[in-house]
Amino acid sequence: QPITTDMATLTREVKKFAMDKKMEIETLKVREEYRREFLGNVSHELKTPLFTVQGYLLTLLDGAMNDKNIRKKYLERAEKGVERLIFIVQDLDMISKLESGDLNLNLSKFNIVELVQNVFDLLEMKAEEKNILLSFDRKYLRPIRVFGDQEKIQQVLVNLIVNSIKYGKVNGSTEVGIESLTDNKIIVRIKDDGEGIEPQYIPRLFERFFRVDKSGARAEGGSGLGLSIVKHIIEAHDEKIYIESEFGKGSEFSFTIEKAE
Ligand code: ADP
Repeated sequence: QPITTDMATLTREVKKFAMDKKMEIETLKVREEYRREFLGNVSHELKTPLFTVQGYLLTLLDGAMNDKNIRKKYLERAEKGVERLIFIVQDLDMISKLESGDLNLNLSKFNIVELVQNVFDLLEMKAEEKNILLSFDRKYLRPIRVFGDQEKIQQVLVNLIVNSIKYGKVNGSTEVGIESLTDNKIIVRIKDDGEGIEPQYIPRLFERFFRVDKSGARAEGGSGLGLSIVKHIIEAHDEKIYIESEFGKGSEFSFTIEKAE
């Protein structure tokens, strides 16, 4: 750095230095706030299932254990609570890796049609609970090869289809469609005829822990992290995700992905 003798330049540089420091401090403050909020959210999310499990176990110890039927029922419920905790911790693990940029994409060419069908098989039972029909346009019987991280794209499909079931109506349907967007991109659409989302919430959907209906969503057993994981994965691929939704009618989430050939 050259030594500055000119007073005006010196003043300017001192001011700039002070501004830079101020901005640095602001950034640190925002980060600190973010961390505090994150920790608060995490402990809040963990508390509900933990107390549920504890409640069932305490009741069992308190004598409910002696009744064979109650014992089975309460143990099953406690197990559900533990399952829920495992899902939350897995989501947290995923989000922390995605946000720290620690997660390398394992890129390969794969058939997205087959992947969608595998995800349907995986979620068939969950859909049956609400008698929701999972459908896939028949014209996609031929393979469509894409380029991406297969495991992560599977996670995207699972999260979006699980949501379409969770927020879908009984006897409703979820339809997956794939279309060519440009010569080298395709778009995958996941469309449901469920409850839909009010427009004012749409910009916040991808925020961590954001839920439209806190109590309702909690009853459905999500962590509020599903969509933010989806967004991170799609952005890590340099691709885009879109939402279209009409309150009371249904929603459509779609994302782009690169064609392999
Ligand atoms: P959650 O674990 O709560 O499902 P997500 O991040 O996956 O968390 O979704 C955030 C919120 O977005 C949900 O709580 C719900 O309010 C809303 N949402 C997501 N998908 C849909 C959908 N297909 N239809 C209606 N609302 C949805």
